[in-house]
Amino acid sequence: MYLVHASDREIGELVRSLVELKKKTCLCSVCFNLSDSDVCPICADRSRDQTLVCVVEGPAEVMAIEQTGAFKGLYHVLHGVISPMDGIGPEHIKVRELLDRIGNGKVEEVVIATGTRVEGEATASYLAGELKRYNVRVTRLASGMPCGGEVKYIDPVTLKTAVEKRHAI
Ligand SMILES: [Zn+2]
Repeated sequence: MYLVHASDREIGELVRSLVELKKKTCLCSVCFNLSDSDVCPICADRSRDQTLVCVVEGPAEVMAIEQTGAFKGLYHVLHGVISPMDGIGPEHIKVRELLDRIGNGKVEEVVIATGTRVEGEATASYLAGELKRYNVRVTRLASGMPCGGEVKYIDPVTLKTAVEKRHAI
């Protein structure tokens, strides 16, 4: 409705912006995140920990983790997850590129940050298996109790994980 009532000038600007967006957006040649340059600003930032790589499903996950300010390493964007039901195998996402990157030697820890649904877990297991060939520490994002949550309202699967992955305080 907003667009129907917008002026020709506004519509023109929107169209130009969309064309520009499409023209300028590419994938970073290192991490495959969306970028407007060959190497994205995160990969180009030498102050970030080059030995730590966080593997995510897509660019939205990079944004979400960046917003926390808690992660100072680099990323690797898979552009999907392994999902045999949908005919998506490791060869359809950026797995080969990840292994090539790890094979180059600088990385010491790979944090697997795929989701906790079946496909995300299957992808995490697959990657952990493949990464055994390399001299890297493989970690998985913690899962368990949500912040501000009450134990009695947490779903049984999350609560089970929380109990199993409890840690010393
Ligand atoms: Zn990058």
